[in-house]
Amino acid sequence: MILIGLGANLNGIYGAPEQCLKACSDLLAGAGIYIVKSSNIWKSAPVPVSDQPWYCNAVCAVETVLSPPQLLCALATIENDTGRERHEANAARVLDLDILSYNDEIINEAHLTVPHPALHERAFVLYPMQEIAPHWVHPRLDKSVDEMIVNMPKGQEIQCIENSQLLSTYMDKQGAS
Ligand code: AMP
Repeated sequence: MILIGLGANLNGIYGAPEQCLKACSDLLAGAGIYIVKSSNIWKSAPVPVSDQPWYCNAVCAVETVLSPPQLLCALATIENDTGRERHEANAARVLDLDILSYNDEIINEAHLTVPHPALHERAFVLYPMQEIAPHWVHPRLDKSVDEMIVNMPKGQEIQCIENSQLLSTYMDKQGAS
């Protein structure tokens, strides 16, 4: 299962962060990355704690023929096309796209770590992941999503926006054919 994490906490060309995440289904499809399942959008306090605006986050299962480096490159292009500016680490951003998992591959390259190295510590990844991939097991830590939720750092503020899944044009087209 290929899982992508999405996050945004600044207004951009698609409007507010929630709108930017919703625009991602078409942006990803345009790059050959098709959403097959989406979590709801979750609102979360910045990690590490700061006075930045809260984030909108989601996790999507996708299908693509892109290899992990090609996928990373495609996600960076989409981030850049939405006006993402790169300042210091953990800065507020119009859009952040991460490869959370790529099937059961373990990748430790200079520019790519899969599963994403902070996945198991972040409520804004684990709760959306629990919605769409409750049976996924971290291939390096050998922990289920539920186990990682029990063990993640406490006190992370997060709330679910009900019925806010990202629409999948791909699924719509499949259903229509
Ligand atoms: P950020 O956009 O702040 O999440 O950081 C992007 C940087 O993290 C890029 O330079 C990537 O090469 C690197 N990176 C390493 N592993 C991953 C991953 N699994 N997904 C996305 N970016 C990654």
